[in-house]
Amino acid sequence: MLIYDLELADLTETVKTWGEPVFRANQIWTGLYKNFWQSADEFTNLPKALREKLAENFRFDILTPTLKLDSSDGQTRKTLFKLQDGRQIEAVLMRYDRRRTLCISTQVGCAMGCTFCATGQMGFTRHLSSGEIIAQVMYYAHLLHNENDVVTNIVVMGMGEPFHNYKNTMAAIDRLNDPNGYNFGARRFTISTSGLVPAIRQFASEKRQVNLAVSLHASENDLRQSMMPVNKKYDIEELMQACRYYVETTGRRITFEWALINGVNDTPEQAKKLATLLKGLLCHVNAIPLNPTTGYEGKATTRERAEAFKLILEQNGIPCTIRIRRGIDIQAGCGQLASHQLTH
Ligand code: SAH
Ligand code: SF4
Repeated sequence: MLIYDLELADLTETVKTWGEPVFRANQIWTGLYKNFWQSADEFTNLPKALREKLAENFRFDILTPTLKLDSSDGQTRKTLFKLQDGRQIEAVLMRYDRRRTLCISTQVGCAMGCTFCATGQMGFTRHLSSGEIIAQVMYYAHLLHNENDVVTNIVVMGMGEPFHNYKNTMAAIDRLNDPNGYNFGARRFTISTSGLVPAIRQFASEKRQVNLAVSLHASENDLRQSMMPVNKKYDIEELMQACRYYVETTGRRITFEWALINGVNDTPEQAKKLATLLKGLLCHVNAIPLNPTTGYEGKATTRERAEAFKLILEQNGIPCTIRIRRGIDIQAGCGQLASHQLTH
């Protein structure tokens, strides 16, 4: 059992069965989530026998970093981790002004098969457990803690489709949110989905404070379907209904992601169609030039085309930001490093 897979209640029960007082569970919880201790040996506030029991019963070595890459500007750090079964995942830290944004993975590979995405090109291997998701955060929290710094935002935009691994993803977020533990505010999380409609509706009805981003990339079914097979199951009309339901239910703004691909979805006509689709919805468009991958022939948009796209949206009352490509020199795009490792 991985130590981060436990809820505080599970840990309390375990400690009780060992004949230890309940406060020991709280000490362990604090050690894990406030001090970022990453091995049983570090719990020097516990009796030695208890430390040994911890080490015997739980795994602390959940992730082994196998590759660390820093972007040329030093602001982006990407780490490739080996899981206990030898599979690989990645997590990226982006420093921007005072923000320390962490991008984490929820699956090994992805079943959604988006053609332009390195993770999609790999196919699906397995879900991550809640503990494996948390371990990525604790790794970076520890790293920043040593520099007197903290993670300020977490985006669930690494490898995998978080809503395909709904239960474990939400369990990880809830555990990281625990005020007696890491105490990471729900509002500082953003989950990105390729558009799994039933999960969007469930997420909306749970009224979480977590931000939602939806990967749209096209506003016509034919085009979206050619890029994102998930559109065959949940088309744009159904998806937009679920998005409207989300905004009405939660009162929260929704973000739409749009990877700008030259000549494919970055034309003025596409921008106008998108503006029509989103009219009247409390939303925001995050446009990002495509990060080219080996398995997809599309090219990134140009700066001029991206600006023109943004302008049309704004003239139609839809706020739009063009995200800077960060860490492109270290393949910090979704799944790019892990897929590179697999194929080279
Ligand atoms: N599976 C989720 C979250 C992970 S992908 C989702 O698809 O939303 C995070 C974002 O990166 C998504 O918007 C995805 O469409 C986008 N993305 C994937 N590959 C990309 C690429 N090569 N260039 C630009 N954006 C990409
Ligand atoms: Fe999966 Fe998201 Fe990549 Fe699509 S873009 S294949 S949903 S990780």
